[in-house]
This record gives sequence, structure tokens and C-alpha cells, in this order.
Amino acid sequence: MTILVTGAAGFIGSNFVMDWLNSEDENIISLDNLTYAGNLDNLSPLSNDSRHFFVKGDIGDTEYIFSTLKKYKPRAIVNFAAETHVDNSISEPINFIETNILGTYKLLQNTLLYWKGLEDTQKNNFRFIHISTDEVYGALDKAANPVTERNCYMPNNPYSASKAASDHLIRAWYQTYNLPVVTTHCSNNFGPFQFPEKLIPLCIINAINDKPLPLYGDGQQVRDWLYVSDHCDAIRKVLKNGQMGETYNIGGNSERTNIEVVQMICNLLDDIRPMKNKSSYTKLISFVKDRPGHDRRYAIDSSKIQKELGWQPKVNFELGMEKTVRWYLDHDEWLRNIIRSHNKEVK
Ligand code: NAD
Repeated sequence: MTILVTGAAGFIGSNFVMDWLNSEDENIISLDNLTYAGNLDNLSPLSNDSRHFFVKGDIGDTEYIFSTLKKYKPRAIVNFAAETHVDNSISEPINFIETNILGTYKLLQNTLLYWKGLEDTQKNNFRFIHISTDEVYGALDKAANPVTERNCYMPNNPYSASKAASDHLIRAWYQTYNLPVVTTHCSNNFGPFQFPEKLIPLCIINAINDKPLPLYGDGQQVRDWLYVSDHCDAIRKVLKNGQMGETYNIGGNSERTNIEVVQMICNLLDDIRPMKNKSSYTKLISFVKDRPGHDRRYAIDSSKIQKELGWQPKVNFELGMEKTVRWYLDHDEWLRNIIRSHNKEVK
């Protein structure tokens, strides 16, 4: 038996592939078109694992996707492939429309064609898991309850709008064609192998290079944080027992303001790798002009997946942050390769 994972060379995809091969006895086909965010180094720990195959391909490439499905005959697809950086979606929304909307549509159509050709038992057991985000629900007031699966979609930036559009396609392919899909909405992930454009790795890398730690606006934006291995565990549970056509919210119950997150990174670094001049890394914090349409608060209620599938986050925020900071400090080579291959300095 085999599952196909798209976007497998990215942050969560690569963590998921490794987590899967550590806990399940089933092969994985990793598919990724290796955008700037896709990094084969993330999958290099699996280079000698005969259960893992990497294929370079675009979810929007109809012929390639269909022939890959026919060749490897996966019994499930987990779709992580997406453009994911909100700042890029503001400066160049077209890539988000092409991959997150059109790419998902083409992947769905090819999956439908492949699924229709399966025998009845295989058809019944097949699953398409679509990985979405809490950002589709839009911003919450300070006092508002965390969002449940029944909240309305109110995306506010091109990234979340493109993810919302893809979620609607997923739903429609279930309602219209009975394709067995499940959608998950997770809050902000953190942990190893995250491309250093995102807040946590960016701050760690800038701090150890004595560069400013940029915080948008007043730094009071609130996000819920989940350690990436807990997200992977949730997806495995959804794949095993999630109900077709359903959506599941996944969160860490760890709301923090951005400034709290950055201060925590600085405090950890002060302990683990003190600055040579004995100053604190917090001195590097620098407030920059806020991002347009910046959502003030996201918070997610994951009681449905907890009750129905018995999932719970296991790594608390403090422990996860310490593991994360130590991981980036211990993976200098990984970081230098990324910076070298993108031929640009990390801002
Ligand atoms: P990422 O940017 O690190 O990885 C995305 C991967 O998708 C990259 O390897 C990239 O090369 C690949 N990709 C992009 N376009 C592709 C295409 N057309 N065909 C094939 N592969 C393509 O992103 P991530 O943080 O790992 O996020 C993975 C998924 O999880 C995304 O769908 C994202 O919306 C969702 N998500 C992320 C978070 C988070 O905090 N990172 C939270 C909730 C949901």
C-alpha cells in the first residue's frame, strides 16, 4: 500500500513524511515541484529508506499527475502543496491563484478520474486529505470564542482567499462527485525544516547573525501555535478515521502575541547561546510597518477532532520552542545551504 504526499519537500510535508515512515508500515510517494520553499535536504534523512520515493512534479500538470497516480496506485493522497507565504501573496498573488486554486482543481480532477477507475473496495477505502489553514476564517476580536468548523469563511489576504477557494472546490468535489475528501484547518505550525521566511526561523537566524528581528506593527497580533509533530499526528488520525466530507480544526491551544513569541526566542537564545557582548537578543527587536490586511487574531477550537478522533497536542509551546531553537542552532549546514541556494541574504 502507498500514499501520495504533495508538497512533501516543504516544511510540514517533510515532517509528515518522516513521521509517517516512523510510525506506519506503508510506502510514500513524495511529490513536489520544488519551488523556492521546497527543499530536498528536508527529505535527505530518508535517502536510504526503500519505502520512500521522490518524484518532481506540479499538482497542476494534468498529464504528469494522472500518469503518476496510475503508476503508483496510491490508496490516499495528502495535499500539502501550496504557495504559503502571506507577504508573497500580497506582492504576487498570481502564484497563489495558479497553485492553490487552479493547481488544486487540476489535482482534484485527476484524482477523480483515477478514483473512478478503481475497484469498489479500493474506491471505498480511498481518501483525499486536503491541508488547509485557520486563516480562512479571518480575524477574530480579542474576546471572541475560538473558531469551530461551523464558523463562516472570511479570508482577508490573497493567501487565505486562495486557500478558502481551494477548500470550496474540495467540498464541491465531495458533494457533486462523491470523491472521498476530508479537509483540515490547522493553526500556525512551528518546528524543524521551516523555510526561514516565516517568523520563528527568521528570528532565530537573524538573531544569531546579529541582524534585526522584524516585527510587524505593534507586534500584538495573536496566533495559535502548534508544534509540527502534533499536526502530523492529527493528519494521520484524520486519514485513518476522519469522516468523508468532514472538516477538522487542529490547534495547539497556545495563543501568543508575536512579540511574546519573539521575546521567548530571545530568552532561549540568551540562555543557550549568549551574545558575546553579554547583551540580550531582545535588543535586536525592530518594529516595521505593518502588513496590509494583517489579521489581528486567529484562535481555533479543536474540540471536534479531540472528541471524535481522540487527538490531543502532546508538545506544549514552551517545550516545542526550546526544541525548535536548538534544532536550528544544530543545523547550521541546512541553513547555509538554503541561503546559498537562494543566493540571497535572509532579511
Ligand atoms: P511550505 O511553503 O513550506 O511548503 C509548500 C511545499 O509545496 C513546497 O515544498 C513547494 O515546493 C510545494 N509546492 C508549491 N507549489 C507546488 C505545486 N504547484 N506542485 C507541487 N508542489 C508544490 O508550506 P508549509 O508550511 O509546509 O505548508 C504546507 C500546507 O499546510 C499548505 O497547504 C499550507 O497552506 C498548510 N498550512 C500551513 C501552516 C503553517 O503554519 N505552516 C498552518 C496551517 C496550514
